[in-house]
Amino acid sequence: MKSNRVCANGTLTVEDLQAQLFILATLEPSRMPVVTGYFDLRPGYRKELDETLRAVRKGLAAEAAEPFEQAWLRIQSFLRTEMSGQDKGAAVFARAGDRPFFLALRLQTPVAVSVSVDSRARIFPLIELKDTYHQYALMVATETDVEIVEVSLGAVTERVWKTRPDLRRRVGREWTQRHYRSHRRERTHQFLKEAVKGLRGTMLASGYQHLVLAGEPRALSLVKKALPRFLAARLIACLPASREMELHAVVEASVALFHEHEARESLAKVERLERAIGTGSPAVCGAPASLAALRTGHAEALVIAREFEPGTGWRCTLCNEAAAGSVRPAVCPRCGSVTLADVDLKEEIVHAAAKARCEIETVAGSDALMRLGGVGCLLRFRPAEQYAKARRAWSGEGAWRPGEAIGRQAAR
Ligand SMILES: [Zn+2]
Repeated sequence: MKSNRVCANGTLTVEDLQAQLFILATLEPSRMPVVTGYFDLRPGYRKELDETLRAVRKGLAAEAAEPFEQAWLRIQSFLRTEMSGQDKGAAVFARAGDRPFFLALRLQTPVAVSVSVDSRARIFPLIELKDTYHQYALMVATETDVEIVEVSLGAVTERVWKTRPDLRRRVGREWTQRHYRSHRRERTHQFLKEAVKGLRGTMLASGYQHLVLAGEPRALSLVKKALPRFLAARLIACLPASREMELHAVVEASVALFHEHEARESLAKVERLERAIGTGSPAVCGAPASLAALRTGHAEALVIAREFEPGTGWRCTLCNEAAAGSVRPAVCPRCGSVTLADVDLKEEIVHAAAKARCEIETVAGSDALMRLGGVGCLLRFRPAEQYAKARRAWSGEGAWRPGEAIGRQAAR
């Protein structure tokens, strides 16, 4: 089959995932369905998977049965032969037929088991994974050892280890205890300062926007004092950790802290969207307007609720024109084709966002976002038509304060 991209060392980076999402979002549809499988590979997963498969086979249309089994064979062979014991999950996309496709990702984080058969790949769970785990640098510091770790999608991708040079203990005639202690303090300061320099280099090279510090309280406080301002601004959490703690336990605890931070950031995005809608700043909400904004390239960021279940819309299989709404037109308004298909609207929206390489914020448990229709977009600028409408609505009242983006649009 055409493509089989698995990261060589089994560790998927955010950049890899971004690239794979683009491939999936731009995959040309064919007559054959795409089988999407998400697998939680922790022990005992077979039973749940078998039940899921039984339900999928039962629900398949007669013409989809054979293409499904062909694609499933390929997926099954991947799960059997190419997964390692360390992998906690996998996402696999397969299509049989004359335009075959195969893409498999080994994941270091478990994902909820699901198997689906559709005209396109189901990518929302991957997008949610990327948004939830993303990437950050973790620095674990004691007075004698420092480890700088890059954590990507919940797994360690890079490690740099440094140990303070040995202190020669010359207590007695040459050094008094007091001398020794003061010497040690100075050396520790120097050592941690050097380590922060290393951290600075790592963060600059990787472009990571988030930092978690872990370690012994005294070392942590010294490191915090030594952080340059731009690193202090990226610090999202401090985690007490003793010298005896295993690295994987520290990483796990830091992942949990990162999740909390990410959830707060998501809610802040919803607030921004709410404010923008309320004040007439460039933003839209609801499925039809969001889809339109994404497809026309006006969207800067998509904010989408995990709980958002909009049901179906339609898409033209010839020109890919798509719209929300359960009533399908007889012909495509763009190209006149009659080959219109029902589509999962949530997937349609995230496909459009991934294709446009638009920032995507997934949000869980936000009533405010659900009140806005479960989905919305912050816009780069207000499309001309909307701008005119807004201007008419506000004319004469003087309350309209056009933002920079609107100004740009108006100047055209
Ligand atoms: Zn069309």
